[in-house]
Amino acid sequence: MTRPSEDIECVRSLLLAGLSQAEVARQTGVPRGTVRTWITLGTDSVLVARRAHEHAVHHGAGDCELVRTVPESQYAYLLGLYLGDGCISLTHRPGVFRLRIALDERYVAIIAECQAAMARVLPNKVGIVQNPGCVTVGSYSRHWPCMFPQHAVGKKHLRPIALQPWQETIALTRHPRLLLRGLIQSDGYRGMNRIRGRYSYPRYSFSNRSDDIRGIFLEACRRVGIAARPNGPWQVSVSRRDDVALMDTFVGPKR
Ligand SMILES: [Zn+2]
Repeated sequence: MTRPSEDIECVRSLLLAGLSQAEVARQTGVPRGTVRTWITLGTDSVLVARRAHEHAVHHGAGDCELVRTVPESQYAYLLGLYLGDGCISLTHRPGVFRLRIALDERYVAIIAECQAAMARVLPNKVGIVQNPGCVTVGSYSRHWPCMFPQHAVGKKHLRPIALQPWQETIALTRHPRLLLRGLIQSDGYRGMNRIRGRYSYPRYSFSNRSDDIRGIFLEACRRVGIAARPNGPWQVSVSRRDDVALMDTFVGPKR
């Protein structure tokens, strides 16, 4: 049975107050097994997923006006960044979510491009937080769960990630190059591959622990007509000269 977010919030505050699992179960009427599961998954992440679900139901899932009118090229690019290094979290304001994308602080052009795309996808203020070695680009909205319905409990590589049909249309059918640009800019790079210290040639690598996200990368390459192949357990490479040259026309080195 799915529980409303109020139950999860109750359980969380009683746990924070130091009550035992048994006491929390008794006071809230939430079964002890459920309380234990929430503790294992993290009450916060359960709460975010539940709120996102309630939001989608309230909204009439897939019926969001902002999704229907989203600027497609910026969306495809932002989806790539989100799948690579994004997350959606709860805020203190009910029904408001925060999208955050973590980027390497060295790549100022990528940070600026991410910021611009985020502001186009949902027209709210986009903030930048500087952390040691990395920068977080973030924005608040009620609609992030509508934009990225992949949002759920747990790390992306530990759960299935499937694009919805409207996302496939935008990102795989219409703008696979921009999706690839976002994916490479978050979880990939263009570098030199050296062979026995003598020969070197440029290649692209994409690395993500989720089989599904690597599958999305491979499918986007296929749509563009680029050969990409697995290279190690979590990595995919593009190394044929023509393919690298084609990738260079819409990705290029990170900067
Ligand atoms: Zn919405």
